[in-house]
Order: sequence, then structure tokens, then C-alpha cells
Amino acid sequence: MLDNYGIDIWGDNNFLIENGLAKVNYDCKPSLMSIVQEVREQDFKGPLLLRFPHITKKQISTLYKTFSNTIQEYNYKGSFNAVFPLKVNQLPTFIQPLIKSGEKFNYGLEAGSKAELIIAMTYNNMNAPITVNGFKDKEMVHLAFIARSKGHNITLIIEGLNELETIIEVQKQTSLPCPNIGLRVRLHSGGSGIWAKSGGINSKFGLTSTEILEAYELVEKNNMIEFLTMIHFHIGSDMNSIKPLKKALREAGHIYAELKNLGASNLNNINIGGGLAVEYSAYERSRFYSLREFASDVIFTLKDIAKQKGVEEPNIFTESGRFISAASTVLVTPVLELFSSEYELEHLKLKEINPPLIHELNELFKDITKRTAHEYMHDSIDHMESLLTLFDLGYIDLQDRSNAEILTHQIIKKAISLLEIDDFQELRKLDENIQEKYLLNFSIFQSLPDYWGIKQEFPIMPLTHLDKKPTRSASLWDITCDSDGELPFNSEKPLYLHDVNLNKEDYFLGFFNVGAYQDTLGMKHNLFSHPTEVNVVFKDGDVVLEKIIESQTIIDILEDIDYDTQDIKEKLKENLDDNTFDILEKYLNENSYLKTIWSYNDE
Ligand SMILES: *Cc1c(COP(=O)(O)O)cnc(C)c1O
Repeated sequence: MLDNYGIDIWGDNNFLIENGLAKVNYDCKPSLMSIVQEVREQDFKGPLLLRFPHITKKQISTLYKTFSNTIQEYNYKGSFNAVFPLKVNQLPTFIQPLIKSGEKFNYGLEAGSKAELIIAMTYNNMNAPITVNGFKDKEMVHLAFIARSKGHNITLIIEGLNELETIIEVQKQTSLPCPNIGLRVRLHSGGSGIWAKSGGINSKFGLTSTEILEAYELVEKNNMIEFLTMIHFHIGSDMNSIKPLKKALREAGHIYAELKNLGASNLNNINIGGGLAVEYSAYERSRFYSLREFASDVIFTLKDIAKQKGVEEPNIFTESGRFISAASTVLVTPVLELFSSEYELEHLKLKEINPPLIHELNELFKDITKRTAHEYMHDSIDHMESLLTLFDLGYIDLQDRSNAEILTHQIIKKAISLLEIDDFQELRKLDENIQEKYLLNFSIFQSLPDYWGIKQEFPIMPLTHLDKKPTRSASLWDITCDSDGELPFNSEKPLYLHDVNLNKEDYFLGFFNVGAYQDTLGMKHNLFSHPTEVNVVFKDGDVVLEKIIESQTIIDILEDIDYDTQDIKEKLKENLDDNTFDILEKYLNENSYLKTIWSYNDE
């Protein structure tokens, strides 16, 4: 059963629950709520992305330490190297601390496009490796030559023979030094899970065995054997099992050894791509291996092949991105409204004489006790359905219907609190009928695109109230005008939240492990842009909020999609007095997210 929102499964000791608050398990252990309050006091409302560079640092150091221990244990002769694949998160607020944390390990970057390559050439630690994957044209190949001549340790990993021909061409046409060359191999074994198509014989990427032999001949013919340094494969993201990796390692390891024995004297590196999984579920573990097992399997397999074929034990490169970045970022969304808040008792306006079923509902409401809670709740739901039918047939009026809705909701609410349901089993049976809908100030399309696109789960936990039993089975709505902007209640994986009165207190939900892929995959549906973000760092036992970047203003968003903002302002000014236009202009310079539902009244 769902206990503490599954934090023991997905939390990795990065967060803890204490005195009902979700806290950062580091340094002075601040509550997430205190951080959110500090940001909001500076007038940044709406959804927030909290980034914790210390978690990225921990992931990098765990990766290196685990491999280095395993290398010692097996007396392995090759070295361990890693790069961060930029496509997983290219934002400067994330990348710059990552590069700094990686410096002492010689942690590098992987680029899959020209723009990403420019980031790598500009900011990578000078001796740390850069690998380049993806399809490349001549210009991109030329960029890699330029990076090499700046002194970078860069490897161009070719996806097809034409790319190798382009490298040879650029080599002949420029006087720049040649980057190292890697071959991405098209494995016969595929990956596992939803990303399986990244590997395998029908995958989008890589060279077949015939092409590998041709590539070798081509390199040899052009006297470029010295530049052939790496074999690469990537079997897919978020691998839940280690088995497909072992198969892939055997295959790639033998290709390495064969080429080595053919005469590829500088071929010393096997790049095993990314794919280390992250726990996203609050309900069950989905990663069936530890990092230690992963490292042991890689090292044992490569050692074994090297011995069998009589070649040197290769250096190992990894490109895991999700593992490094996911946990570092928490999305915090304010709850704007609980759907049932419209059903407060104060709105009940019973008539002198009410239709019998409404009278009956009122009696149920007055008489409900712990013993009758179950029965009355069911009766009220039945009555409600009958009353809706009566309304459709014209037998009761709108006031009656409103009274019926209020009474039914009040009965359900009272029943839930009377029942003091200890395990959620009971509540579960009723879930379908008594869900509460929470309206959240964010856009699923912008902030959880993988939920929208591939139904990726993310851990969800309120930041407060964690010492109280949550009693409402929750479905979550975002503020886009799109019916896909919803995380519906799922009775297989139920989410329970607290019954709060938002007129009296704020209630925030945290979405965890959102640091991988979501930031730049997110889209501006309804013109909701990237949320306000902040780096939370720790100095001398204190929390320091660094680099607050506010969500784009409305006028900037419009400029981004190529509106002429001058024209917009001129047209808006027509027929308005100066005062009104001043207010309008102030609104243009704010972001699209909601302040609160009733912000106009509050002012
Ligand atoms: C996407 C990608 C990665 C990163 O994968 P993760 O699952 O995030 O670790 C690594 N290498 C290549 C070639 C990729 O395309």
C-alpha cells in the first residue's frame, strides 16, 4: 500500500519527511515549503522548478566511485570515463554546476546536434572527453575539427559510412587536426522496455557488420587508423533489466576485439551509451539491478572477452543522462482549487418544501454516524443519480439540483472522516465515485511532457501535511484548456491527497525526478512557458537561492513566436485612456501562470 508517497522507493535518501514536512536531506535540511515560501516572497508566483546541484554532484560521484571500486576489485586494466548527454538537459542553470562538479573526475559532455556541440566546445572542461552522436552533415563534422584544434579531446561517432567519407573529405580540405573517430554499431540484440527500438537490428542508428568492415578498410586506405579509437552502442533509455545490456556488451566487445586484431591499434575505448534507470514509480520498484551490479557486469564481461581474444582490456565510456540528472529537479505546483470547494455547506439553500429525495439526503446528512457512514454514503450517491435524472426530465429545478450536489458532497466528506479509514483498501472501493479534483497551477505539456507523450509516471507528494492521513482520492488538472491536461485518478496506482481549505492555507504538490528530458521537451501549449526556476545551494549551513530565472512574460512569449510586439502594443493602445493602458502594459510584463484563482478580488 502507498506509504509516505513511496519516498522509500524513489527518494534515494535525497528527501525525508519530518514533522509533516518534506525536507531536503542535506546540510541544514530545509523543508521544501520554506524554500518555496522564500521564492514566493520575492513575488515569483506560479509553478516553480527547484534545482539541487548537490544531487547532481552526488550522482556523478556515485557513478565514478562505483566504477573505480569495481575496477580495483577485478584488477581491470582499462579506465572509466563518462560524459553527460546534453539532450537530457541543456539548460545553463543545470549544466554549469554539473560541469563544475565533474571537473575533478574529468567528466565530459556528449552532443547530438550542432547547437549542443557548440555548448560542449564552449564549456567542457578542457581535458574531459566530448563525444558526438547523431546524424552529421559536413558543417557539423567541420565543427568537430574546430573543437579538436581548440584542444578538445573529441570523438566523432559515426552513424553511417557517408559520415566517415565526410570526415575524410574535411581532413583533406582543411589543415585542422582530425578528431578521434568512433563507430556506432548496430547490434543484433535490442534493449528492453519502451525504448527498445534504440538498439537492435532495425534501429535507427549504427553500422551493420558489413559496414564496420568497410569502415575499417576506408580508414586504413586513407591512413587514418590512428584516429579510430572507439566502439559505441546505446541500447535505449531507462533499462529496467541488465540482461539486454550484457548481450549487447558481448556483441560490442567481440567487434572491438576483432577490429583490434585486424590492426586497429588505437582502438582502446568501448562506449556503452546511457540507459541507467531511475525509479519513477511510487508503487513498486522498476529497476532490477544496482549500480554495483551494473558496473560488475560491464567490467566482468569486457575482461572476459579481452582475455578470450587476447586483446587489451578496453577503457569504458558511459553516457548515462537520466541517472545523473533526474533527481536533481523538483517541480512545485500550487493547488489553486479543490473542485468540491463549491459544495461548501454555506451555499446550501433548502426550500420550505423540498422534493422527497432531497429531504432524504438532508436526513442522511444529519443522521450519519460512524456505523452508518458506509451505507449512507452509498445511498447518497444513488439519490444523487436519481436527482440528476429528475432534473433532466424537468421535475426538479436548478436550486434543487444545487442542494442535492452540496448535500451529497458533504455526506461523502463526513463519511470519509467518520470512517477513519486505516488502510486505503476501503477507500479504494469507493474511489470511482468520490474523487476530488485538484486544479494545479502548471501545464502538463510544458512541465511533464513525458507524462503527456508516453504516460511516464512521476512521483507526486504534497510538501506539507505529511503527518496527516490523506483522505481524498485525487485527480489532478492543469490550467491548460486541453482535456489531455489531466492526471486522472488511477485505482491501480491511487493518489491520495489532503482535504484542505485553500482560503486558509496554501497547499503545494511536488513532482519529483523531473530533471531529465522534461525541461526542453516541454512545449508552449496555450502559451504557458517554462516555469520560474531557481538553483538551491548550501553555503555555511544556510540555504542560498541562486540564479532565479522568472518564467517568460507574456510579451516575451509573443515575441518568441514572432509577433511584432510594437504592433501589439500600438493596437492595444487604440481607444484606451492612458491609465487603463498602463495597467494593460503591466499585465503584458507578467507571466502567463495564474496568481491565484481570485487574485483580482484580493488586490
Ligand atoms: C539519449 C542518449 C543517451 C542518454 O540516455 P539515458 O537513458 O538518459 O541515460 C546516451 N547516449 C546516446 C547515444 C543517447 O542517444
